[in-house]
Amino acid sequence: MQFADLHLHTAFSDGTYSPEELAAQASRLGFSAVALTDHDTVEGCARTDAACRTAGLEFIPGVELTAEQDGAEIHILGYLMDTSNARFLGEVAEFQAVRQNRIREMVSRLNRLDIPLDVEAVLAIANCNSPGRPHVARALVKGGHCGTMDEAFERFLKKNRPAWVPKFKMSTETAMELIHHAGGVAVMAHPGLNRSDEVIPALVEAGMDGIECFHTKHTNAMSEYYLEIAEQHHLLVTGGSDCHGMSKGKPVMGGVRLPMIHVEKLKARAAERRAAANRVGKSS
Ligand code: AMP
Ligand code: ZN
Ligand code: FE
Ligand code: FE
Repeated sequence: MQFADLHLHTAFSDGTYSPEELAAQASRLGFSAVALTDHDTVEGCARTDAACRTAGLEFIPGVELTAEQDGAEIHILGYLMDTSNARFLGEVAEFQAVRQNRIREMVSRLNRLDIPLDVEAVLAIANCNSPGRPHVARALVKGGHCGTMDEAFERFLKKNRPAWVPKFKMSTETAMELIHHAGGVAVMAHPGLNRSDEVIPALVEAGMDGIECFHTKHTNAMSEYYLEIAEQHHLLVTGGSDCHGMSKGKPVMGGVRLPMIHVEKLKARAAERRAAANRVGKSS
């Protein structure tokens, strides 16, 4: 059997792997295909594509967009978009600006709590256009202000903790429309983590293509449950480890192995989405 991991991060967002390290690790673990799904960026796709080619792996370009539906944060995975689509890149760049400003605001809050963290030092640790809370957590650990990343989140960065800053998010509808506009396939990420199943019918109504049934933090029962949901709503089935490299101790890549039949179905849907996006592009 051949397998894929369709949920992976690099240092282009809050992972620690370089594209080359990611491809090497996936290859060591015997995967046939991988998708890169960095938060609000596709900047890592070109290099990961090249690294996968060298390693003999199939590469699926992707993204994980932070969105919201009825007040709940929902992550929407996009696959096989045209990663050079101008409108897609423009809108994603706006969300990167939101992330950068949020880091500045979180650091000023920490400074007001007498934690002498330097924003430029935090941005240097992040060293990417799509920084997030894990980078602030790393800076807090590095500066000796917290013993571990978990402590940093618990004391300061979790929702409603003193350095937490709410993040402006696009609606799930906008996220999916944007992915479709670029000819990609839209998938709800890790539904078992969100505990917001009530939003699923509205997402299906808005054109969602699939649901991530297999994820590192899903129990077997959860995966079974979301497989049923997928069947009920005629959704594609995806899965991935959500590996962030070494950022949370040992890498979790390898724990989720998605049979390639689901990748074939994903690619077939992407061909349909691309054809539809081209039709709209030509008529507008
Ligand atoms: P952000 O996108 O800036 O809101 O940050 C969200 C990221 O923080 C996600 O990738 C989470 O996996 C990560 N995260 C959330 N809680 C923790 C935690 N307790 N320890 C480490 N990382 C966390
Ligand atoms: Zn992440
Ligand atoms: Fe996520
Ligand atoms: Fe993720």
